[in-house]
Amino acid sequence: MADYKDLANIIFPKITATVEDLEKKYPPRKLNEGAMVIRFAPSPTGFLHTGSLFSSFVSYRFAKQSGGIFYVRLEDTDTKREVEGSADALVEQLSVFGIHPDEGYVKENRDLGAYGPYQQSKRAEIYKICIKSLIEKGRAYPCFCTADELQQLRKEQEAQKVIPGYYGPYAKCRNLSIDEAIARIKNHEPYIIRFKSMGNHENKVFFHDEIKGDLELTENDQDIVILKSDGLPTYHFAHLVDDHFMRTTHVTRGEEWLPSLPIHLELFDTMGFPRLKYAHYPVIMKIDNGVRRKLSKRKDLEASVSYFLEEGYPIYGILEYLLTIANSNYEAWRNDHLEEDYLNFKLSFDKMSLDGALFDLAKIQSISKERIAHKKAEVLCEEVKAWALKYQKDFYDRIVADEPFFISILNIERNKEKPRKDYAKYSDIYPIISFFYDDVYRSLDFNRLEWNPAISKTEIKEVLEDYFNQIRLDLSEEDWFESIKALSVRHGFADNMKLWKKDKESYKGHVGDVSEMLRIALTGKKNSPNLYFVMTILGTEKVKERLCTVIKSL
Ligand code: GLU
Repeated sequence: MADYKDLANIIFPKITATVEDLEKKYPPRKLNEGAMVIRFAPSPTGFLHTGSLFSSFVSYRFAKQSGGIFYVRLEDTDTKREVEGSADALVEQLSVFGIHPDEGYVKENRDLGAYGPYQQSKRAEIYKICIKSLIEKGRAYPCFCTADELQQLRKEQEAQKVIPGYYGPYAKCRNLSIDEAIARIKNHEPYIIRFKSMGNHENKVFFHDEIKGDLELTENDQDIVILKSDGLPTYHFAHLVDDHFMRTTHVTRGEEWLPSLPIHLELFDTMGFPRLKYAHYPVIMKIDNGVRRKLSKRKDLEASVSYFLEEGYPIYGILEYLLTIANSNYEAWRNDHLEEDYLNFKLSFDKMSLDGALFDLAKIQSISKERIAHKKAEVLCEEVKAWALKYQKDFYDRIVADEPFFISILNIERNKEKPRKDYAKYSDIYPIISFFYDDVYRSLDFNRLEWNPAISKTEIKEVLEDYFNQIRLDLSEEDWFESIKALSVRHGFADNMKLWKKDKESYKGHVGDVSEMLRIALTGKKNSPNLYFVMTILGTEKVKERLCTVIKSL
């Protein structure tokens, strides 16, 4: 009579190495006390999702702050869902965000580190060694059920109103005799391999999750598939083998994996591998028409990291935002440590949200505005250039044609205690400042300038002509403003709002109306950066030239 060993040898005749060999080849890491080994395990099914950026960044920080290892493992066992080129793009995008793995998949056919290969499709042999050992122990078996049979089973279970799945009395192939299984294999019947569960769904398992705390879960009793017909393992089995032999200490992953945890615990226990620590991250949600839902790749632009990069959100704005959703105490820390690098913030699992993190675009914008406003103009210029070179080449060309000019524009109301916060992203800059460039200014439609209809064109013209003749840009901002007030008074406008409000009849308007005329004349717009700086940056010649152009159009 054949035994489990014979069955294992028939299924894997070429596998001679053992689990012990793997233990030797991938020995426990020599780590300092408390050092965490954490992985990011993307499936190459598309570009980086905002949720994946969140988990990879947070995982990276946890590993780094503990003095541990962060590695990338490519989970490419689902060949049907694979998108070509996406693995390399994922790794590249991580590096854009300053996430530099210590080990792992680098690019096609290139790994870094001694615990590889870090690409699951290249680890078939390792999985088979482990599965062979399970078959030898009688804890895995070949299943010959066809898709039709499984569908039939599901229908019966629905009719009987019992828990669906392949388990206990419903696991037909579980009870095949070894001889029969061998005979069917020899007969070339197709099969897959299932795990033989010893669990019972009436039992509970207790587990401590680093984020969710103490959990009580239903024990697994499903004989899950561990090896598919394509010779690759399912997620559950690959997780077991990889996280054990890559010597992960903390499995950080999305909370959508929590329901499968009992399977994983049973797999680890059965293999005799020590259980790992788990931290299940909150899923990133958004409020859509008052309803909370998962951020969706199909529906939401902000679900894709490339959206933020194309728009020119600064990397530090995005990452700091992710820290605010990662840890509830981040913002308080930031307020107390305004000058400090955000990478100095120490993340903790127990400050993570328990019920889904809410994504808030306005918040990313306000954080980015704040951070951009506090950058030195020269530093910001480099960031904008790098972005523009990739996404807005004409803007890039303008910047490099006269970099000091661009820097002086960026410097408008920047180096002060409360700098102006005009820009949430690099793409906000050009529309606000493009009028500085003469060709843009000249292409304005001067007949459609938005003059205040309450003031006659003749009046406007007189004010502009007067300013043309009196212009003085060598003054301080205060003195310059005095000159604008004097201009206002000369033309019957109140030199301050209060005065005008008290006695509107006696004035044509107020100093704000006069400034608006100058602003429209020089920028073509009702809103612009501080007019004094606009003028001083343009310089007397250009200001006069522009006034002249506008006066002619009136
Ligand atoms: N490849 C899995 C995913 O993309 C990874 C889950 C995990 O981190 O264990 O969802």
